Amino acid sequence: MILEHTRKFIKSAGQKGNGRKVERCPMCGGQKHQGTTTYTVDTGIGLVIVRNVRAEICAQCGEEWIDNSIAQELERIVNEAGKKRHQVEVLVM
Ligand SMILES: [Zn+2]
Repeated sequence: MILEHTRKFIKSAGQKGNGRKVERCPMCGGQKHQGTTTYTVDTGIGLVIVRNVRAEICAQCGEEWIDNSIAQELERIVNEAGKKRHQVEVLVM
């Protein structure tokens, strides 16, 4: 799992199983809103930076949650980008 190398700690949005999204931030109770974030992975060969990643972001503490489906897509993108073995690869999701 290449995502384990990330500097950003990915948290799954919502509870597993029931498909309902958590509206409040479990960290601080603040309001979450849909937004985008920039995701950076150090593959050990280079940095892969993915911009415009959909996430739920807490307005209060700034914690970010990425859906499992988005995380899977990210992993695919990062794996593809890693094959180029560039020092830095910047992508837009
Ligand atoms: Zn919060």
